[in-house]
Amino acid sequence: KHYPQLSGKQLHTLRKCDYPTVALEVLSLFGSGIPWYDLSILLRETYTKKVFGTEEITPLKWLEPGRLALLQLSGGPTLAFKDIPLQLLGRLMNYVLEKEDGTLNILGATSGDTGSAAAYALAGKNRLRLFMLSPYGRMSRFQQMQMYTLNERNIFNLVVNGTFDDCQKVMKEVNDDAEFKEKYHLGAMNSINWARIAAQVVYYVYAYCKATTNIGDEVSFSVPSGNFGNALAAHVAKQMGVPIRDIIVATNENDVLDRFFQTGEYRPRMWGDTSSPSMDISVASNLERYVHDIEGFNPAKTARLWASLKSDGKFVLPKSGRNARWMLSGKATDAEVLDTIRMVYREYNTIIDPHTAVGVKVGLERRDDTPLIVAETAQPAKFADTIREALGFEPPIPERFKGLADLPEHTTRIDPDAEAVKQFIAAHV
Ligand SMILES: *Cc1c(COP(=O)(O)O)cnc(C)c1O
Repeated sequence: KHYPQLSGKQLHTLRKCDYPTVALEVLSLFGSGIPWYDLSILLRETYTKKVFGTEEITPLKWLEPGRLALLQLSGGPTLAFKDIPLQLLGRLMNYVLEKEDGTLNILGATSGDTGSAAAYALAGKNRLRLFMLSPYGRMSRFQQMQMYTLNERNIFNLVVNGTFDDCQKVMKEVNDDAEFKEKYHLGAMNSINWARIAAQVVYYVYAYCKATTNIGDEVSFSVPSGNFGNALAAHVAKQMGVPIRDIIVATNENDVLDRFFQTGEYRPRMWGDTSSPSMDISVASNLERYVHDIEGFNPAKTARLWASLKSDGKFVLPKSGRNARWMLSGKATDAEVLDTIRMVYREYNTIIDPHTAVGVKVGLERRDDTPLIVAETAQPAKFADTIREALGFEPPIPERFKGLADLPEHTTRIDPDAEAVKQFIAAHV
């Protein structure tokens, strides 16, 4: 119904605070239902240098001092920004299950980043098990290694003889069996979970505080987007009073969101694979929340738009209230991604991954005099092939991943068949 507010003065106070403190201040505003003291412990346990590689958790790296920075969100265990919300979500879920003396079995499907981030978030959590479906042989070398070498009693990698679509279909079929779902306490951790969005609002507040010095100073953010979770979190931060000038939604060749922000027409579809696979998404699951806001928090109106999406495969926002004026957008082709990776290496001596490159390319195109902060959503080591194509050499692999290739993999091959998956779950809970 409304967003809690952060005043300029409160933000000014947060300038001196570390990441877990900023997280506590921001998340408390949403009334988590978790006692303040417990939440503060959970946040201190989650956002550590040990897990995220730096004391700052999400450091800013200035490429042009005071003008252009990367917000480094990918220091976590799977080298992509999804670790930031999911590491917290895993702990929150376990905390609630402890209180209720319950257990939960998470069933998921992944084409790459989400699966490993969920696995590393739930590893060793005593109240949770994870059954993750992934398509055989279709993820990057690094992604497979990372996910399949995890050796934990509560993590089950089900490698499906089929595509990502097959995985999703099976997951949906299992979930549609209400009796099974209830009997085996099946749950999900997907990207429309509000706790994930709230945890992402935190780093926009934190980055704002670190990038500015005076009350009222403005910044703009450029966000490589697919499901629209990350850009939505920036929009929420702005709604809460953070002085964000523009939010630049950057897409790859699958530019459903760019078209939406340019024309008001939302029509999900896919053009094909790109070098930024985590943004090859046609349906932006979180867009509904944004539209609900700009349409004046009117549930009936939002419902009407999504009904026409269902019946006509699209909707068009009326010209008057088209889009929030601070939401800008643009797209980058694969060729432009390669050019941008080269340019950033040449000009700033920094290697960026293809997703981040989309954000840099579109951000630079749309920026004005306001300092621009680009969300770095993954590290280049994850996408070595594209980096080699752009720069002629492979990006360095962070120290802690060097041994991965030698570890045994822990997987079960399975057919894309809901009954087979149900049997597996029943046998392992
Ligand atoms: C998931 C992901 C994105 C897209 O983020 P959304 O919140 O889905 O818009 C971008 N880059 C990387 C590396 C990702 O893993």
